[in-house]
This record gives sequence, C-alpha cells and structure tokens, in this order.
Amino acid sequence: MNETMYDSYRQAGRIAAEAREYGASLLKPGALFLDVASKVEARILEKGAGLAFPVNLACNTLAAHYSPHADDPSTFSRGDVVKLDVGAHVNGYIADTAVTVEIGTHIYEKMITASSEALNQAITHCNAHTPLSAIGEVIEQTITSYGYKPIDNLMGHGLGCYELHTGVSIPNIGSYGGSTTLSEGDVVAIEPFATNGAGHVIAGKGSNIYLCTNSFKAKLIRDAKTKGVYAKLLSQFKTLPFAQRWCDSLVQSNVDVALRKLSFYGLTKQYPQLVEAKNGTVTQKEHTVIVREEDCEVIT
Ligand code: MN
Ligand code: MN
Repeated sequence: MNETMYDSYRQAGRIAAEAREYGASLLKPGALFLDVASKVEARILEKGAGLAFPVNLACNTLAAHYSPHADDPSTFSRGDVVKLDVGAHVNGYIADTAVTVEIGTHIYEKMITASSEALNQAITHCNAHTPLSAIGEVIEQTITSYGYKPIDNLMGHGLGCYELHTGVSIPNIGSYGGSTTLSEGDVVAIEPFATNGAGHVIAGKGSNIYLCTNSFKAKLIRDAKTKGVYAKLLSQFKTLPFAQRWCDSLVQSNVDVALRKLSFYGLTKQYPQLVEAKNGTVTQKEHTVIVREEDCEVIT
C-alpha cells in the first residue's frame, strides 16, 4: 500500500468531514445559499485542502447537483430538507461526504434516518469480499424497512487522483452490481438516497457546476479567446468539477456567455440538476471509505 497516498486521502477526509459539520451548522432560515457554499469552501482551503467539487446544496425534491450562481439570491427556508455535499482533495486524493439537514422542522426525520442507517449498514458490510449487489441489497432493504424507496439511478463510486467518479459503481438497490467485489485498498464513496417519490431522478435545469471535457477538441477551435479561456479553466480545475462562480478571475468577459460558448464547442459540460422523478422529497448520506480485507475504514 502506498501510505503517502492513503495519508492524503485521510487528510482530505478529515477536512471534508469538518467542513460538512461546519456547513450543516450554517443551514438556518434566511441564510443565503451563496454564503453557505462560499464559507464551506473557504474553510476547506484554509485547512490546506483543495476543492474536489463545488459545495452542493440540494433542497427538498432536488437530490443533487446544485451550487449557487455568482449572484444567486436563494435563501433557505424553515422546513427545507437540504443535502449538503462536500468534497476536498489533498494532492488530488479526494474525500466526498454528504449529510441531510431539515431546517427547523422534524417532518422528514425518519427519512433522514433511513438514508443514514442505510449508509451505516452498507459500511458494516463493506469489505473486499462482499459483492456490490449485496451492498446495494442492504441499502435497499434498510431504506425500504423505513417505508421509503432508494433512488435506483444514483450510485456510490470509486475515487481516484483528481478523479471524482472512477472504477466501480456502488448501487443503492440489490439488482445492480452483480457478484463483482471491491478490492482491498479501493477508495469509494457510498451514498444512499431515500425518497417518498418514484425512486429515481431525472435531469432538470443547469446546476452552475461544470467540468472541462475533451481536451483534444481544443486544438480544433480557431477562436483564440475561447481557446485561451479553456486553457485557463483546464489548468486551474483539471479534471475536477468547478463552479460558475469560481471563474470570475479567470474569465475577463461575461462568465455565463463564455461557459455557454465552451459548452457549445464541447469543451465543458454543465451538470444538470437531478430532480426526483415524482417530486418526492429526497434525503442522502455519504461517506468515503478505504476498503480493507475484512472491513473498511471511514475517512469522512
Ligand atoms: Mn458527494
Ligand atoms: Mn459522491
């Protein structure tokens, strides 16, 4: 095992976990999405880690993929069910973690417990011998036992150096994943989602979260300005997702226009918001773990 690599993962894990708890404490009625995201991101940077992706703040029927725009006026309200999803990296080694907070009310407490207990059970079963389908099965059974549905088209994932989604997918239902097992030393994010809706998500509006895509296409672009902007974004964010609001200092012109142009050329893509298909409320809990022979180490 490359201990330096795992030490980087562990350090990223500690910082992401601390930022998650800090972020959860900021979720109050009237708080601006923009303030919460910026403060959590600032905390990650202060502690010496990099941002693995923009802080995601997904409310109620939104399962994932929303980060505030640079002039986002949105504020949280009492009763909002907020999925706060945080990612930090040290030397490129990423920790990814999320928690659900219900602001000021207790209507969705049981659904929050369902996803969190599903994660606990998955962690208990996670080792180098458990088939992926068995991890999905225990998540599905736990969420179902609380009277909810798991979201079948959102999955946990392997993590790599500057790679947020790589290697295996860890299903939230038993009928995916087959007999494939994890390997000792794999670093994976496990993230059960529970809902009272349809049990899957569909793509909605833009999320303000982007990714640099196919770098070879850049050679084909004649527009020097667009090429220049792309080169800056790629050198700054590499293969990691970034926020529209992080681009101000890199893009001298209107950021939205520049990003639209880059997306048109296929050089960036904007993630869509992921909405519950029947507008059900969604809860989520996520930890990053290092897989060991007989168990796993939670690093977040
Ligand atoms: Mn996450
Ligand atoms: Mn994840």
